[in-house]
Amino acid sequence: MTASDAVTDVLRGLHARFGGLRDGRPASYIPQLASADPDDFGLALVSMDGHCYSAGAAGTPFTLQSVSKPFVYALALSSLGLDEVGRWVGAEPSGEAFNAISLEPGTGRPANAMVNAGAIVTTALIAATGRASAFRRVLTCLSRFAGRPLDVDEEVYASEAATGDRNRALAYLLRSAGAPPAAGPPPAAGVPPVDPVAAVDTYFRQCAVRVTAVDLAVMAATLAHGGVNPLTGEAVVSAEVAARVLAVMATCGMYDASGEWLLRVGLPAKSGVSGGLIAAGPARFGLAAYSPPLDAAGTSVRGRAALGALSEELGLHLMRNPALPGSTVTLATTADVLPSAPPGGPERALHARVGIVVAQGALDFTAAERVLHALDRSGPERTGAVVLDLREVTGVDALALATLHAGLARLAGDGRRAAVVDPDDRLGPPDLVRERTGRDLPRFGSRAEAVERCAQALAGPDGPDRAARS
Ligand code: GLU
Repeated sequence: MTASDAVTDVLRGLHARFGGLRDGRPASYIPQLASADPDDFGLALVSMDGHCYSAGAAGTPFTLQSVSKPFVYALALSSLGLDEVGRWVGAEPSGEAFNAISLEPGTGRPANAMVNAGAIVTTALIAATGRASAFRRVLTCLSRFAGRPLDVDEEVYASEAATGDRNRALAYLLRSAGAPPAAGPPPAAGVPPVDPVAAVDTYFRQCAVRVTAVDLAVMAATLAHGGVNPLTGEAVVSAEVAARVLAVMATCGMYDASGEWLLRVGLPAKSGVSGGLIAAGPARFGLAAYSPPLDAAGTSVRGRAALGALSEELGLHLMRNPALPGSTVTLATTADVLPSAPPGGPERALHARVGIVVAQGALDFTAAERVLHALDRSGPERTGAVVLDLREVTGVDALALATLHAGLARLAGDGRRAAVVDPDDRLGPPDLVRERTGRDLPRFGSRAEAVERCAQALAGPDGPDRAARS
């Protein structure tokens, strides 16, 4: 997006508001990072449709550092599965700094994949394959998340490789602890030996992969979008893996500031010591900030302020349940009040025993529950009939479909007649409906037809007069 639009304006507003913050300093324990321009400040947001918005230095390159960790964790989960990865690295917040010796007492397993110890083991889980080195696999995966080929900042890599003794020490400690726990399940067949010491160099290289704030927002958006890159359409990891990575980011992504971050900002996030910061709104957006000066927890000061303010002002907190659908049931009544109802007499009395429920929009579980609740309450008596009108429904997700089928089966089991106005087969093909509801649910193209059929059924073979009298 160029020029001005409402979303860019929000980002520009945040950029103007927090660009003047002077707290914090760029990391210097990796010497090359100290040369970053402390004034650089970029923000980017990518929507689930792949629309990209940015402000400030969003195209300035910097190194991923720890923002690489969730993506390499995603690669490990994709390659080995949660159980195998879980034997090597936990998923508990350590409450400690990024470079802490966070090893589980007794087993030596690192607390989680977001602290260095866990990230080094995670990288060690990525085996070379016939054609690709472990690092090539990592770089390919990171590039697919970003939607473009990424490369390594060799100077930053060399700088960390020359000074990264603490990470090497962690790796030796990990190797001496001999994770995974001897008491744990046996290694899966074909899993190569895991050597944290040999993996440190790959870890340094993954930390030195060069990105921009826009790249980071795309990467975060890919996690938020169920593992599918919204720009390229490529399924980088499965929806299940993406959800798991977001879960670990939510609890552990901000190191010893993770609890406070989840409390106040409420988004899965990951910080890196070069000043990169990502946050993901599941099924909503990917966000990124870049600004090198860091606070005591190793988080970009301006990035933290800007993403925090954005979450608060736009109500993005995960626990605020943003996804409550609008109205689902637009009409719940009985057929006798419809304009098409017979004017009076036994026919009209029969129509009064036919409940009508009209639903609209995209049905998820929340919406399906509303529909079933309305069906349950519809009509004056439990022996009547009910017409469910789905013509205004635009889609039904898998969980909603299963819920509707189960609800309709129960309704019929309770002795109520149900008919569905469903010209677009929103309830699925007849075979599936029969299998799930245990009967041939009558479906009609128009509401009038469905009502008529229900009224006739209530009247029984002897016609409306007798049925209405009885
Ligand atoms: N490469 C850095 C390190 O291992 C990453 C730390 C971070 O970004 O938090 O020290």
